[in-house]
Amino acid sequence: MKLLLSIYFFIIAIIQLGLLFGIYHYYRSQNLLRPNPYWMGSLLVSVLGLCIFGGGILTLNNIVKPDFNFTVANTLFVAAASLQALFCLSLNRPITKGLLRTFGISILLFGVVFEYFRLNGNFEIRTALVAFFYCLFYIWQIIELSKKRTQMPSSQLAYLQYASYGELFFALGRVVILVASTITITEMQQIPQTLILFTIAQLVMNTLSYIAIGGYWAEQIAKTNVQSTLENQEIKRLLAERETLISSLLRANKTASTGALSASIAHELNQPLGASSLNIQFLQKKLAAGELSPELQNEILNTLLADNQRAANVIRTLRSIFTDEKITTEKVDCGELIQTVLSIAKPELHAKNIQVVLRLEDSLYLSANRGELQQVVLNLVNNAIQALIPIERLDKQITIYGTHTDHGIEISVEDNGRGLSQEAEALLFELLSGTKKTGMGLGLWLCKHIITRYGGSIWFEVAPEGGAKFVFQLPTKLA
Ligand code: ADP
Repeated sequence: MKLLLSIYFFIIAIIQLGLLFGIYHYYRSQNLLRPNPYWMGSLLVSVLGLCIFGGGILTLNNIVKPDFNFTVANTLFVAAASLQALFCLSLNRPITKGLLRTFGISILLFGVVFEYFRLNGNFEIRTALVAFFYCLFYIWQIIELSKKRTQMPSSQLAYLQYASYGELFFALGRVVILVASTITITEMQQIPQTLILFTIAQLVMNTLSYIAIGGYWAEQIAKTNVQSTLENQEIKRLLAERETLISSLLRANKTASTGALSASIAHELNQPLGASSLNIQFLQKKLAAGELSPELQNEILNTLLADNQRAANVIRTLRSIFTDEKITTEKVDCGELIQTVLSIAKPELHAKNIQVVLRLEDSLYLSANRGELQQVVLNLVNNAIQALIPIERLDKQITIYGTHTDHGIEISVEDNGRGLSQEAEALLFELLSGTKKTGMGLGLWLCKHIITRYGGSIWFEVAPEGGAKFVFQLPTKLA
């Protein structure tokens, strides 16, 4: 009889342990939802209680006054039931620390009362006490489950509720059997068969309820999976939209820069084209007059070729900035890149009487997209020019620094203009924050976008003479 009973307990412990391992493993393979601590805790405590109880039956001598391990096992059973109730409560509202403390204290109190009855009471009182506590938790659990199911129908929670009804039925049944029994139980053999049956049935129901909770969490993980797939798609869509927006902004900014620099470009192209035209007229005149010596012919043709190359160079440089080429990275010499930008801005600088001072260290090499970097430097130079235009002073100056730092390369564009007002400074790199009538407040925002995309940073400083200084830093090995 003893052996058979303890085997029952061990079998149920093994089933619950298998469930615990299986579900824990499943949780670990997912990182969408964290395992519910109350449910896992309840299962663990229940397995411990079953093992101690099963072992206790094997060594039991006196059923009226069993060993201390029965207090431990029964307290663990009640703790497992209370954790399961807490799990059901956690479905409806967060569990506060105060509530947890109250639970802890009541479990301890139960342990003390049970210990008192172990020493001074009898089998019937103790069994009724445990069954009474079970009933309290099961009723509470059922109420919480009904609340949750009205808000969110779930087949697994329905199974859990049925299993809880079963647990409640068998726990109540145990109390009724004890009350109805006329004899006082002092021997193992006197325990009514129906009481044993109801106890085992309650444990089976309890195991079913753990399985239902496991099913509920699997259901939740499946739902979260579907949701996160949908969210992923949404994020991808938003990212694609963002890229489209940014490339249109890049294009818009290029157009803005083109507008601002179109005068310089026309000037730059007009010079070689005008010179060529004059040389061709001169050539025609000499040919008509028959005065073309081979030396003169050579000289004129060489000049024509040089002017042609000059115009071609201007066009090639502009094309690299203003076309929608695919973003590819290459080894870029920042010194040369700055010279290219200055050659575009040269007529404007000249017309506005602005000096450019270069303080560039050697070998400022980066691996980046040339067009994008040019756009950053061009924006900063263009902004400096715009800032210097309304200034009355004679020594208008832009200084460009290029240095190696511990992390990469730092380039700064400094002017001796009026600098920035505090409110303009606060919003500098924000989109559409410009104060110029012609500007769109796009340039610095885009500079920041390009630089940060390469893993670098860009910031503003007040220049020593009170003007503006824009500094950007890029890692040599770009992200
Ligand atoms: P935009 O030039 O299209 O207005 P930016 O983003 O390039 O947009 O610049 C934003 C604002 O920052 C400008 O309108 C100007 O007020 C200010 N700013 C930028 N560079 C300088 C500078 N070097 N000196 C003074 N103000 C500047």
